[in-house]
Amino acid sequence: MKPSLDDYREIVGDRIISEIYKKARNLYGSNVQHINSTYYGGGVAEILTSLVPLMNDVGLETDWRILRGTPDFFTVTKKFHNALQGDTVNLSDMKKQLYLQSNEAFSVYCKIDHDYVIIHDSQPLALIKFYKKKQPWIWRCHVDLTGLNKKLWDFLKRFILRYDIVIVSSEKYKMKDLPVEQRVIYPSIDPLSPKNMELSDQTISKYLKKFKIPTDKPILTQISRFDKFKDPEGVIEVFKHVKEKIDCRLVLCGNMATDDPESLRVYEKVKRKSCKLIEKGDVILITSENNILVNALQRASSVIIQKSLKEGFGLTVTEALWKEKPVVASNVGGIPIQINDGENGFLIDSTDIKGFADRILAILRDKKMAKEIGKKGKESVRKQFLKTRSLMDYLDLFNYLSKGK
Ligand code: UDP
Repeated sequence: MKPSLDDYREIVGDRIISEIYKKARNLYGSNVQHINSTYYGGGVAEILTSLVPLMNDVGLETDWRILRGTPDFFTVTKKFHNALQGDTVNLSDMKKQLYLQSNEAFSVYCKIDHDYVIIHDSQPLALIKFYKKKQPWIWRCHVDLTGLNKKLWDFLKRFILRYDIVIVSSEKYKMKDLPVEQRVIYPSIDPLSPKNMELSDQTISKYLKKFKIPTDKPILTQISRFDKFKDPEGVIEVFKHVKEKIDCRLVLCGNMATDDPESLRVYEKVKRKSCKLIEKGDVILITSENNILVNALQRASSVIIQKSLKEGFGLTVTEALWKEKPVVASNVGGIPIQINDGENGFLIDSTDIKGFADRILAILRDKKMAKEIGKKGKESVRKQFLKTRSLMDYLDLFNYLSKGK
């Protein structure tokens, strides 16, 4: 069924719905083009899956296209992605060429005559060089830019300078050396999507059984792409400490995004580490792409872990908070925007294995506290991080940009 704004009335209330329709009034019939590099796996795809239908529902004509690329291209752009988060990169002429060629090749297949163009992350960033610009172009950067690699930044900046506005996920990520206007829009989740909708106990059990996840012990879960910045190896070490005191299971669920060629290697490493450190059967690794499974798993878990070393925002945190789960997460990137330590979740220094383990043990020992924290988590998401709020922010942005016409 086609999603409609009315469906959200019960969750956000009439005032928000009416405000959205008001903000859309001057934009009816405007065309919007979103471009990113994958239809699934990772937060950007998640955001677009729910935002695009709602934009269409309120009267904008919204398209979503995927930048096609060869495996070589995605190897290079994954290196760029990591370097934006602080890794070193050998920025050879060959890499630059491959990056530019793939962007140019795509421009031949994709006609852009929309009123607004939104380019997500660095993979399609250079597209702007290959179009005759007739409209505002928006670069929507989803990663944490605080420790970025300067060389790469300098290379990418030549494209960013052509944009009309840059959107980041936190005030901290605004770049001082970038003369382009910058705004913050927080990411958000769709409370009615298969990943976040209410599930019956029966459906939860069915999915856990299907994916062979026993429920005889408490479940700790981290849902994240197999990416070194999500630190799945660190999670296994945390789990080892927890398990010495309380018997439990760890589930690491990470799909393989088509634009992430490193995930298989990280997965293999994690698998080896878990076999070495932990008794067979107590660490369950899942690589399936399945939204209801993610939903069921988050709901069935006693604690949700997010031990990222870098995190643009962390929709997995938002999703878990929405499900009233106690979340123990690293104090990095966009996570502290969502969690007030001790109030609606817990923040730990990202490298503090013992700190993570002690906090998880405390939660497992105090169910009442876990429940109270979980309730506050859900309310914090309702106020700030639902789809309807992002939609309003984008409508404000389009209204603002259209004033210049
Ligand atoms: N995700 C998923 N299956 C997985 C791993 C992740 O559906 O096996 C989803 C997750 O539920 C969330 C998104 O991918 O919606 C990850 O977004 P986040 O902002 O946490 O991190 P990113 O991958 O964008 O760095």
